[in-house]
Amino acid sequence: MNQPVVGITASALTVESGPGLGGEKFFAGKGYIDAVGRAGGCPVILPFGGGAGVAGRHLVVADAILLSGGGDVDPWLYGEEPRPGLGRVCPERDEYEIALVRLACELGKPVLGICRGMQVINVALGGTLHQDVRCLAGALQHFQEAGGQVAGHSVQIKAGSLLHRLVGGDTLRTNSFHNQAVKALAAGLTACARSADGVLEALEGQTVPLLAVQWHPEGMCGRHPVMLELFRWLVRAAH
Ligand code: MN
Repeated sequence: MNQPVVGITASALTVESGPGLGGEKFFAGKGYIDAVGRAGGCPVILPFGGGAGVAGRHLVVADAILLSGGGDVDPWLYGEEPRPGLGRVCPERDEYEIALVRLACELGKPVLGICRGMQVINVALGGTLHQDVRCLAGALQHFQEAGGQVAGHSVQIKAGSLLHRLVGGDTLRTNSFHNQAVKALAAGLTACARSADGVLEALEGQTVPLLAVQWHPEGMCGRHPVMLELFRWLVRAAH
């Protein structure tokens, strides 16, 4: 069986105790790896920090891209100064992932953005973000206390959208672990779903195979199998 290679962008951490103290590591959550595998793809982890041109080389190897969750996007990249409530930023990761999104779109390779990944896509294509969703009037809780398998707020899905076709319904309950959200949607993207407070929860590309969600479907696949459909779409689109 020909398994498309799905490149999953890595997060970075610094070891804070024990042997290896201070060492820097790249990693990707096992949930992403498992979901891509169950959907029929071959997962590989893509570290940033390999220098200029590495995003282009990674796209020689990867048939599809999964932009994983992580820290906040540097507001400088969409023309704002940092405000209170902005989380930790990583300019090297931003630079790599933005290059990866733009190149994948040029090449027509499918992209699935998850949480931070949706925010990165919007900034890469010229959009802006709310730095802290808690500052919006009437905002729901978008950073839930419960674990990833637990459905939190609901989202209303636009009829006729790619997401609507994949999940087969107008409403979905999702987990929620984000403090940023899309403000101005980039040209070339269409809104697919919103929570009851109006926060954009999913988007898709108008002319490129691109889907992004603000929640973490990889964390819900166990109890909510419909979430696996997003990963199946990515693998199908890579063929
Ligand atoms: Mn949310």
